[in-house]
Amino acid sequence: MSRFLSPEASRLEPYTPGEQPQDQQYIKLNTNESPFPPSPKVVKALTKAEVLKLCLYSDPTCAGLNAALAKRYELQPENVISGNGSDEILAFAFRAFCGEGKPAACADITYGFYEAQTALFGLDCKRVPLREDFSLNVDDYMDFPGTIFIANPNAPTGMAVPREDIQRLLEKDPERVVVVDEAYVDFGGESCVPMIYRYDNLLVVQTMSKSRSLAGGRIGFALGSPELIADLNRVKYSFNPYNINRLSLIAGAAAVEDEPYFQTCCNTIQENRAWLVGELERLGFSVLPSKANFVFAKSDRIPGGELYRKLKENGVLVRWFDKDRIRDYVRITIGSMEQLAELAGALDHLLDEL
Ligand SMILES: *Cc1c(COP(=O)(O)O)cnc(C)c1O
Repeated sequence: MSRFLSPEASRLEPYTPGEQPQDQQYIKLNTNESPFPPSPKVVKALTKAEVLKLCLYSDPTCAGLNAALAKRYELQPENVISGNGSDEILAFAFRAFCGEGKPAACADITYGFYEAQTALFGLDCKRVPLREDFSLNVDDYMDFPGTIFIANPNAPTGMAVPREDIQRLLEKDPERVVVVDEAYVDFGGESCVPMIYRYDNLLVVQTMSKSRSLAGGRIGFALGSPELIADLNRVKYSFNPYNINRLSLIAGAAAVEDEPYFQTCCNTIQENRAWLVGELERLGFSVLPSKANFVFAKSDRIPGGELYRKLKENGVLVRWFDKDRIRDYVRITIGSMEQLAELAGALDHLLDEL
């Protein structure tokens, strides 16, 4: 810290991203990226001619990308806003829908960025404990007088809430916004997108970082009523109007237009997940029921932190959170079968040595 840091900034609790070693020496199963490259259509769309246009600003309205998203999700462009990763969209939502007299609520065990962002905006954020088995009880939120943030499926547990539960929350209080963060929904969860026309207090946030193999492209988006989207644009145009760069706008639209490639990737991840769950259970792990591109697992034979460290020594990176309730677990991203076979081999080896 310098002596110039403001009191506000000194109170922040920055999010710690998963390790991103820039050499390729690890089998990287720690940040829920896709093991597959982006769609070949993305590669084709990123031409030299587009690179040469980088001397011009990008389209602040993201018209091409939003149109592609609207088409894919059977909505209108007015129902769509795109962001520099869904992290940026979440920031817009916290700023737009929370503030004085309007607190935020989210689970005690959920995406760590919610806490970092509420601190950044000086918001009051109520942490609602998940049940003992890490399932989320929407009844705990029924009377909450503020904006509700639910990651569905949740991170880092991978567990999903049924759409009807979200629907009950939306109906209980139409004056309250429910933000459903569907970063992982394409791997088997139930999306709330079909309810957008029916509930103008529903905002669905998604990302291209996981199911569309574009984590490095930084593209997220939100779908909701035109009024909610206009509110988010108010924040965006007060912060960073050209929020998505030219190349990512093109890459994102091309990715959304390649439905077959997307489906193949999502199906493969789900098959690989089933295989990994089988292997982990064979090795004595308990694995939470995951609808995401990762699993959350623990072994009675080795504490989570030690497992994380031993796997790293064996060249495999997974994620471990040194946090109450989940310290025993590691989160393992579903990679390619080759990567998962290496992981299973490393686990076999290190459990044998105990
Ligand atoms: C990965 C993730 C995001 C953010 O992804 P971006 O790369 O910023 O689009 C948002 N929410 C959850 C729950 C995530 O796990």
